[in-house]
Amino acid sequence: MRSPDAVVVGSGPNGLAAALTLARGGLAVDVYEGSETAGGGCRTEDLTLDGFHHDVCSAVHPLVAASPFFRTIDLAARGVKLLYPPVAFAHPLDGGRAPAVVTSVDETAGGLGVDGPAYRRLFSPLVRDAGSIVPTALAPLRSVPAHPLAMARFGLRGLLSLERLARRFCSEEARGLLAGVAAHAMLPLTAPLSGAYGMLLTTMAHAVGWPVVEGGSARIVDALVGEVESLGGQVRTGRWIRTLGELPSSRVTVLDVTPRQLVAMAAERLRDRDRRALGGFRYGPGVCKVDWALSGPVPWQSEACRKTVTVHLGGTLEEVAASEADVFAGRHPDRPYCIVVQPGVVDPTRAPVGRLTLWAYCHVPAGSTVDMAERIEAQIERFAPGFRDVVLARVTRTAAETARHNPNYIGGDINSGMGTLRQTMFRPTVRWDPYKTGIGGIYLCSASTPPGGGVHGMCGYAAARSALADLGAHR
Ligand SMILES: Cc1cc2nc3c(=O)[nH]c(=O)nc-3n(C[C@H](O)[C@H](O)[C@H](O)COP(=O)(O)OP(=O)(O)OC[C@H]3O[C@@H](n4cnc5c(N)ncnc54)[C@H](O)[C@@H]3O)c2cc1C
Repeated sequence: MRSPDAVVVGSGPNGLAAALTLARGGLAVDVYEGSETAGGGCRTEDLTLDGFHHDVCSAVHPLVAASPFFRTIDLAARGVKLLYPPVAFAHPLDGGRAPAVVTSVDETAGGLGVDGPAYRRLFSPLVRDAGSIVPTALAPLRSVPAHPLAMARFGLRGLLSLERLARRFCSEEARGLLAGVAAHAMLPLTAPLSGAYGMLLTTMAHAVGWPVVEGGSARIVDALVGEVESLGGQVRTGRWIRTLGELPSSRVTVLDVTPRQLVAMAAERLRDRDRRALGGFRYGPGVCKVDWALSGPVPWQSEACRKTVTVHLGGTLEEVAASEADVFAGRHPDRPYCIVVQPGVVDPTRAPVGRLTLWAYCHVPAGSTVDMAERIEAQIERFAPGFRDVVLARVTRTAAETARHNPNYIGGDINSGMGTLRQTMFRPTVRWDPYKTGIGGIYLCSASTPPGGGVHGMCGYAAARSALADLGAHR
């Protein structure tokens, strides 16, 4: 058996991005994955009925479309086809209204009535500068932005909470639309930066779209594994690593795990102050996710909801804010904010002819064992009366089960750490190179490092580049 130059623990998108970058750097790479399949938060399985292919975790991929790392791969040649709905996302309100974001800023603004001009003023410059804003937001903080002025314009508004940012709008439509997209952040809508998440995701909706992958998100992982293997790398599944001592010796070790696991794995090799700093890393709330097999489309009242893959449920800004506030106060909201994804709108391969899969989650307190399926279904029924009549089967995964399924989702936190202001600037700890652990040759590459959660591979890409730079320095 060959001895590897580099070992990667964990085969999520970041672990595989690190493995590929190291392999491209000329290193022989072995990846150790605890689960029986590679992919972490990027897997597709028949969770409900035979022939219904569900994305177990991630489903919607603006970050793949925008990621500088993914631009280094010919995804199409590897069988990854991104499918774009005509509407990027919609946000139904009572009475059959549903503001929505489409590619054109003008068209989107046109659907927002009195708030159209304010929407255009906020997003036209951001979309114009998206080519510099988005890559900068996906890079570690120490990188110098290519266009500092564009970034400063984004940053100044983005520091605001969503509630402050939304003051420039007066209609329920525009305010609800922004609240729905900002609440992806898993922050209270009164928290600094909650506005930035909404602005960034909306800018990406205009600039690159919110696609799904034909056949399911696992195709992304198949492509990454194919690339790694084409360069001689090996991905070994079913191999949980509990301590660094279990790994073969190598020049570089990159860990797709969160700070809590790093502390457990590295034990006495970490300096006291590094262990203390890692121990202060904050994890966020969890999610409760439900997957359904449907006999036909969701009977949404509004046309925009029927034409999009992603629907944000929760009603007005005030209702969405109350739902998120409940979660941060340790309560389970009665009318939760939910993210609903219906890939079948653009991808008929996910289910037998005429049938569809549906995916939704809501935020819950960390570690929750509460099954929120009834409350999520009630929110869908609110905007799609008759929904329960098309349900053939459903499966729920509580936050506690999400954490059991993947140890990186501590308490069910799908971002592997909160996106607070501090943890956006310094993630996981205050360090010039956030991928270093303080142990020579050992790097961290999970979503607990910059730029945080999502399928973009940028944490792995940057961690591997940091390792390669160190190796170059010591060659
Ligand atoms: C329900 C849900 C919905 C989501 N929706 C989206 C979405 O639509 N779009 C989007 O961009 N993102 C989404 N995400 C977030 C996204 O999936 C994650 O941010 C992303 O997968 C993080 O990648 P990663 O490589 O850092 O970690 P992960 O993908 O979590 O992978 C970590 C891997 O490491 C393995 N591992 C951990 N510890 C060990 C060990 N000790 N030994 C061996 N193996 C180990 C795990 O088994 C896992 O396979 C969602 C996540 C969830 C859970």
